[in-house]
Amino acid sequence: MRILRPGISPWPVITAAWDRAVDLLYPLRCPACGEFETPFCDACEARLIESAAVPRCPFCSAGWEGEDNCPLCFGFDALSGVQAPFEYNRISRSLIRALKYRNALPLAPVMARHIQPILAPGSYDAVFPVPLHRSRRRERGFNQAELLLEALAIESPPDRLIRARKTRAQYGLAPTERSRNISGAFRYEGPSLLGANVALLDDVVTTGATVNECARVLRDMGASNVNAIAFARATYSAPADKSLNI
Ligand SMILES: [Zn+2]
Ligand SMILES: [Zn+2]
Repeated sequence: MRILRPGISPWPVITAAWDRAVDLLYPLRCPACGEFETPFCDACEARLIESAAVPRCPFCSAGWEGEDNCPLCFGFDALSGVQAPFEYNRISRSLIRALKYRNALPLAPVMARHIQPILAPGSYDAVFPVPLHRSRRRERGFNQAELLLEALAIESPPDRLIRARKTRAQYGLAPTERSRNISGAFRYEGPSLLGANVALLDDVVTTGATVNECARVLRDMGASNVNAIAFARATYSAPADKSLNI
């Protein structure tokens, strides 16, 4: 049970409890507007912002209006690039959160359908879901990135890329602290990836520190390219999202 501290609003807790209760009664409803009997309604789908609709960094796809790469890119020493069909906004965030925290499993194929054009089967030598630490996976019951991969019908041998160390949530940390927090968290246990063109799949890329660290491990195993692919990509200047316990 969560204890409320004085001065902290109880509304987020009450809202979350209400959402869970409604989820039990009506498991199929749009996470953005609450419409029943659809995992995601057409009106909300139309309010997703396609990546192509806003200026982006040519390398890491963060929303960015400058001419060259965005400042985030300086921290990416292992990634070959980031791609996502949608901007991280209120609507895409509601899908990501509902899949991850409210077990809205019918959303996985909905999200995968939009990822499919940039991650068609056969376009990479290997695709790895960004792993969760085994304790978090047990707690949640699944890894949302694995669900997306399954929905895409892409085979990936399990437990090759693993999260060997539990990390703190990345929000509220300065960029250097983020890199330190995630450094050494992943391990690869599998055959050599010499010369391989590899993709990492996750639901969302925000700071990119996690996927860059995964990419470093895969590059150490010989991968020549490691692209991160996600359902949504945060804008460069987006504030840290405390609601994502990644
Ligand atoms: Zn809706
Ligand atoms: Zn960039």
